[in-house]
Amino acid sequence: MNQTRAVVLASRPVGEPGPESFRLEDRELPALADGQVLLRTIYLSLDPYMRGRMNASRSYAAPVEVDAVMEGGTVSEVLESRCDDLAPGDLVVAHAGWQTHAVMDGTAVRKVSVGSAPVSTALGVLGMPGFAAYAGLAEIGRVQPGETLVVAAASGAVGSAVGQIARIRGARTVGIAGGPRKVAWLTEIGFDVALDHRDPRFADRLADAVPGGIDVYFENVGGAVWDAVFPHLNDFARVPVCGLISQYNTTTAPPGPDRLPALMTAINVKRLVVRGFTQRDLLASHYEAFQREMTSWVAEGRVAYLEDVVDGLENAPRAFLGLLRGENFGKLVVRVGPEPTL
Ligand code: NDP
Repeated sequence: MNQTRAVVLASRPVGEPGPESFRLEDRELPALADGQVLLRTIYLSLDPYMRGRMNASRSYAAPVEVDAVMEGGTVSEVLESRCDDLAPGDLVVAHAGWQTHAVMDGTAVRKVSVGSAPVSTALGVLGMPGFAAYAGLAEIGRVQPGETLVVAAASGAVGSAVGQIARIRGARTVGIAGGPRKVAWLTEIGFDVALDHRDPRFADRLADAVPGGIDVYFENVGGAVWDAVFPHLNDFARVPVCGLISQYNTTTAPPGPDRLPALMTAINVKRLVVRGFTQRDLLASHYEAFQREMTSWVAEGRVAYLEDVVDGLENAPRAFLGLLRGENFGKLVVRVGPEPTL
């Protein structure tokens, strides 16, 4: 095996990306050097942050170059190893990108560890998004029993974990999602209130749902949802800013008055904590506790999760474009190749 089939960034999108932003092509793989492994991709994770990597501007990570393989987390099988602690047949979590095969340093991958859960969960509830939920809540949200927590994109990988962890911590939880199917699932998994942000009366329904105000707003989307949440933040409310998916395709400032003075005044007067984070910053302080607690919560059925599995690498661009429009229902993963049979 010295070839990989890959999805590369064909051009940088302005605004909403389309299929023309991607190209499927076959590429040569480098020869395996000492300390390296040859990987076969089983599952590829599709995540909102990838939209940012398509832009030229640097955020907290470098952009993907035009003509380079799109980056992404994978669950992969080791096919060949020149690395002491990895052997053919091992399943690993890697950052192998949108491709069928990859050569990587053994130090850049780690063995899958999900207990009795399916291996794909290493990219979702027991992987990066689940960890972002756990760590953002622990470090910044600090939700207390009896408090009210609100989260949007609540049927997604991060939001569903946020709501369920907050409920385990004793909070009252309000989940926001797009459409009746997602809203119904939120109620099934134990959110106290579930709201549809596409409902024309959404802002009023949110006001009714939080009579005592909001103590923690876990920010995943921004935009109109933030506008509806903002007036209800209590004194000393915490806002972990995890992501702002409603803004990822925007090219101009929103219409209407400048909201910044009102935001800064509220931060001052209500003594709000509004803190951005990326899960990577919190690995050292929270990863061990996450693995222990989340693995047992999932095994005990106290944290439910949903996966939206798309078959075939060639369908990754379409699925990713759908994610940015809210078409995924649960953690979006692409099955690039079969799981090994025992
Ligand atoms: P999801 O699986 O939740 O998928 C994205 C969802 O966002 C869509 O399904 C849709 O849900 C919602 N959405 C899309 N556009 C809009 C919009 N305009 N307004 C409101 N909702 C919208 O994704 P993840 O759980 O993986 O990610 C959620 C957030 O967390 C993202 O902002 C992401 O960037 C961020 N993130 C940050 C990390 C960090 O380290 N800081 C790590 C991982 C994720 P619906 O149909 O319900 O509206």
